[in-house]
Amino acid sequence: MPKLSYITKPKQPVQLANAFVIYSRLFQYIRRYWGALLVAIVTSMIYSGIDSWFVYFLKPLLNKGLVQKDVEFLHWAPLLVMCVFIMRGLMSYFSNYSIASVSRSVIMRLRQDIFAHLQKLPASFYDHSTSGRIISVMLYSVEQVANASADILATAVQSLFLVIGLLIVMFSISWKLSLLYFIIIPLIVVIMRFTSLRVRALSLTIQDSITNITHRAEENVDGYKVVRAFGGQEYEKEKFDKTARMNRQREMKVVAARAWSVSSVQLVAAVALSITLYIATMDITNSVLSAGGFVAMIGAMLAILKPMKDLTSMQNKLHRGLAGAQTVFELLDEKIEVDTGTKTLKRARGKIEFKQVNFAYENDKSVLQNINFSVQPGETIALVGRSGSGKSTLVNLLPRFYTGFSGEILLDDVSIEDYRLADLRHQFALVSQNVMLFNDTIAHNIAYGRFNEVSRDEIRAAAEAAYALDFIEQLPQGLDTLIGENGVLLSGGQRQRVAIARAILKNAPILILDEATSALDTESERYIQVALEGLMRNRTTLVIAHRLSTIEHADKIIVMDRGQLVEMGNHHELLLREGNYAKLYKMQFKDIPSVESDAEVV
Ligand code: ATP
Ligand code: MG
Repeated sequence: MPKLSYITKPKQPVQLANAFVIYSRLFQYIRRYWGALLVAIVTSMIYSGIDSWFVYFLKPLLNKGLVQKDVEFLHWAPLLVMCVFIMRGLMSYFSNYSIASVSRSVIMRLRQDIFAHLQKLPASFYDHSTSGRIISVMLYSVEQVANASADILATAVQSLFLVIGLLIVMFSISWKLSLLYFIIIPLIVVIMRFTSLRVRALSLTIQDSITNITHRAEENVDGYKVVRAFGGQEYEKEKFDKTARMNRQREMKVVAARAWSVSSVQLVAAVALSITLYIATMDITNSVLSAGGFVAMIGAMLAILKPMKDLTSMQNKLHRGLAGAQTVFELLDEKIEVDTGTKTLKRARGKIEFKQVNFAYENDKSVLQNINFSVQPGETIALVGRSGSGKSTLVNLLPRFYTGFSGEILLDDVSIEDYRLADLRHQFALVSQNVMLFNDTIAHNIAYGRFNEVSRDEIRAAAEAAYALDFIEQLPQGLDTLIGENGVLLSGGQRQRVAIARAILKNAPILILDEATSALDTESERYIQVALEGLMRNRTTLVIAHRLSTIEHADKIIVMDRGQLVEMGNHHELLLREGNYAKLYKMQFKDIPSVESDAEVV
């Protein structure tokens, strides 16, 4: 089944998944709360029973009370009505409460499941989905699903029992007249069927538009500086207005479809009612119906309109929910990371080997070609090369963020695919090109994932080693300062130092630094360099750097160009070779003379 479009492709035809399949899956969620559900169903039944009874009660009320003036009956009737209505109130409370309890539980459960699933999805999933999509599924679609499950079940039970109860009342008064009502049922079914499919298709497009709204809002919040600096406000506003308008249009289409079906059903029912009235009045002249019977009959016929209307509009809600469930389940069905490896690994020695490695992202454009090299435990390897030459890609293969490469990547002479994923990832401390910090305290960011295992002193020591302690101590709450979403309250260099401290604290046998010091000034970089050198001493390190001064002391330098490994050797060997590296090196130090002096110092 083709995927729904989550970005802006509204014209794509929507695919409706099999409703039965969706239902049975949804049922798995609902049935966990069967206790509350049972209460809801039973109380709804009693509630509807009371309502039907009340309509029936009109008959003796009129016949005995008003026509025959039965004093005793008139005496206890008000009390009876009072008691019954207290009961009705109680039933209504319990049914509403338990229905809400079931649907809120289903919502909670779905959200938890989605979140847990997101933890297991591969990098390729994140490359292709916008966070707007994921957020809208979590917030919007999930709510629709709950509406389609518990709420609907309750309305269905309540309305259905009311219809049944009222039909019983009608039949007990006059079965001939009641039969007339049955003629309209097939008509109602046709109307419902016609609208429900349309509503479901429309609902999928509504979800699309919600996704777009979330996506646009998010992008603009995150990128507000770019929008202002480049004067994109008008353009963004126009795009957003269009998205909001599209959402409104689609919502209105659903409203129209729903309103149409409700009115048609009521119209059909009203026609049946007037025919019945006509015949009933003929019946009265033949004195088949008593005065009370006549009132109760009309009362029942009128009362049945509301539950019928509810059943019709419920259909539409149901289909909205089905559309929601389809999206939710599609996300839950996204394939998770493969973890077929069985080998456990406590602490690697740190030997790495690439053998004939080729790799392409999903678009099939070859990104790495025929990569061969090996790193001994404790060595420092530097990767240099032009932007886009595949350096980050190469290091991302190591923790198996991407799979599907050909050739072999070995860690301690064992293919990385044979290790258990968690064990493998345990071996790497990664400072990536895009530093990610959490909206939490600095201490929590440094000790991310192991806050309860490490001591405060260890956190401080890591911060110190990363030359971060100076600025941290100047913050109002020191290590306990909250740093805002993705660390917005810190400067670029400070963020990098926090990320480095995180890697230092992890104390993994292999360190990967992808442009880890690019945002630092020369002085801080030099300090960190010293700290990192200490850190690199007994572990394998892969460093990616554009500033060549930072990598001169690497044991081996690998030069990449367009996905290929073009040169390999240490600084001096490569300079002597007068190839790509020598060219790069000369170019840098001609353009930026200050760095040259750096190079000599470091
Ligand atoms: P830089 O020095 O600018 O960081 P790099 O050497 O790290 O560059 P990579 O990020 O490895 O380069 O990218 C190599 C190629 O792979 C680029 O052509 C890029 O367009 C492509 N690429 C990178 N990430 C993805 C991805 N997630 N999906 C598809 N293609 C990608
Ligand atoms: Mg990169």
